[in-house]
Amino acid sequence: MSGIATSAGPVAFNAALAVTDLKNLCHQTSYDAGWWGIGGSKDNLRAEVRAETRFGKALAAEKIALIHSEVSEALEGLRKGKADEHLPEFPSEAVELADALIRIFDYAGARRLPLGDAFVAKMAYNTVRPDHKPEARAAVGGKAF
Ligand SMILES: [Mg+2]
Repeated sequence: MSGIATSAGPVAFNAALAVTDLKNLCHQTSYDAGWWGIGGSKDNLRAEVRAETRFGKALAAEKIALIHSEVSEALEGLRKGKADEHLPEFPSEAVELADALIRIFDYAGARRLPLGDAFVAKMAYNTVRPDHKPEARAAVGGKAF
């Protein structure tokens, strides 16, 4: 079990595996729905992204921009304090953040990024990085928020 060391102690599940499962689930769902192909192909756009052609990089940039858009929609949900239009049992803020996660996992799957391992490594790093300590944040030039 490779859990995550947090200020509350180790997380008692395999976070890397959980993130990898979410990545695979979201990407497969998106792939099956045809979001990575055009003109009768299911994966020609994904192939461009994976080959890192100039066109593929532009497509990847488009996918990242769509992640931005979901985060902006979450901000609007927070500002307006409204329920989601399609899932009114949830706050819009929550649904739009879920959209952002789905797009992030989909993108990472298409790019074959090691998101699960990177997530665990970054969480561990954040617990020890000096610029995240309260005294460093309170110092001149520190991260106030
Ligand atoms: Mg949305």
